[in-house]
Amino acid sequence: MRTEELEHADTRRILEWSFQTFAPDRIALSSAFGPSGVVLMHLASQVSPGVRVFFVDTGFHFIETLAMVDRLQAAMDVRIDVVRPAISVEDQAERFGEALYRSDPDRCCALRKVAPTQRVLRGLDAWISALRRDQGPSRAHTPVYEGKAVDGRPVAKINPLVRWTNADVWGHIFDHGLPYNPLHDEDYPSVGCAPCTQRVVPGGDERAGRWAGSGKTECGLHTLI
Ligand code: SF4
Repeated sequence: MRTEELEHADTRRILEWSFQTFAPDRIALSSAFGPSGVVLMHLASQVSPGVRVFFVDTGFHFIETLAMVDRLQAAMDVRIDVVRPAISVEDQAERFGEALYRSDPDRCCALRKVAPTQRVLRGLDAWISALRRDQGPSRAHTPVYEGKAVDGRPVAKINPLVRWTNADVWGHIFDHGLPYNPLHDEDYPSVGCAPCTQRVVPGGDERAGRWAGSGKTECGLHTLI
């Protein structure tokens, strides 16, 4: 299959192509365990049991998010690697001030999310993410396949769920009894780091609670890399 054909392929076929095309130790999923990530892990684990998932533990996650590591590994055949930033929360506070996430959230995300992700991507040829087009304007035109470069070396980014809706995702979670972050039942439709995540009024935009009021909509993982 040519990469252009992936745009119209169904999710399972995209995943099959991905795991047939790239060596097992050169392909991984990234996830912060949102509902789309749970679905993607479930589907990928059926195509490639023991699939590698990397989770960036920024040091600012909710305890409910951290607990998802064990819950997901118990529920499906995935191997979750927890990746941490090079700089500790304490060292960051000493160097840049106590609340860099307020004074300069882009720098905080660059240190705590983007840099650790780049470190992982240096060892991969393909990166699978759970982006969906209906998550907001910044994701509305996400293709299934993107050719990226990390330190000048090509890395394929594959987004098998781009055509899924929020309702599709939750339907899959409930149909299969998959674990999900309990904060979603407490008006957090999207869960990121605790200092940068707020509740959203029921029916509000899925990502409205992320960096609310700051104009920031993405951490940079999907725009800088
Ligand atoms: S989401 Fe907030 S706390 Fe987390 S890395 Fe970005 S700015 Fe820092």
